[in-house]
Amino acid sequence: MNYAFLLFWYVFIGLGVSLGTHRLISHNSFQSNPVLKYLLVYAGTPAGPPIQWALNHRIHHKTTDTAEDPHSPYFGGFWHAHCGWYPPTSNTFIAILYALAGPIRTIIDPFIWKKLPENLPKDLDVPLLKFMSRRPVNFFLALTHLLPFYLFYIEFGWLGIGLAHIITVLFYNIGDSIYSVSHLVGSRDDPNTEARNFLPSALLTMGEGNHAEHHRVPGNASFGGFDPGYFFLRIMKVIRMVKLKPHRD
Ligand SMILES: [Zn+2]
Ligand SMILES: [Zn+2]
Repeated sequence: MNYAFLLFWYVFIGLGVSLGTHRLISHNSFQSNPVLKYLLVYAGTPAGPPIQWALNHRIHHKTTDTAEDPHSPYFGGFWHAHCGWYPPTSNTFIAILYALAGPIRTIIDPFIWKKLPENLPKDLDVPLLKFMSRRPVNFFLALTHLLPFYLFYIEFGWLGIGLAHIITVLFYNIGDSIYSVSHLVGSRDDPNTEARNFLPSALLTMGEGNHAEHHRVPGNASFGGFDPGYFFLRIMKVIRMVKLKPHRD
């Protein structure tokens, strides 16, 4: 088994969701060379169509932990905030089934996400981004991220498929925890939101677990504390692939 490849797979998708879908597309928190930009957006496609993800995420920031928040553990419960909001369902049993679906979510998700809206904010009204956000296109892009299943199959046969499923379930749930655990466990920066900083989460999510700091100033490319995603951006800045704005306190 090529464990280095598996680590690369994890980091590639993690950076894609955190830097591409989240910090760049949703928040415009840095400027990127277009090749790097669309590579990051491609890497993040397992999280869903980037434009629909960004629109939903902007609502999360505007309505954090209120009844209008698409996913708050304080309204609708833990499992709804964790992943039940995707189908969407408030039924805990269905939400747990979805949490255990792992790679099967790649097949379910195109039916769950809304179609690309007609009227988009100017920054999201970009032809290639819109193309990548079309549900069938997003499905095929996300499907390519399941290549490691083939490696597991070669190495361990059908047992390998089971192992890959378990690992993928873990990956998805680590990502989902930002909307559930990161609003419940850890330290708060700002008394106006329930978002929390939690080091173990930041370690596993390319820095996303510094969620209170992110909610405090959503436009900052750095989430503060231990932030591997920002470390990667600093390297990209050295080789002039990105431009970073001044950090706001
Ligand atoms: Zn949040
Ligand atoms: Zn955000």
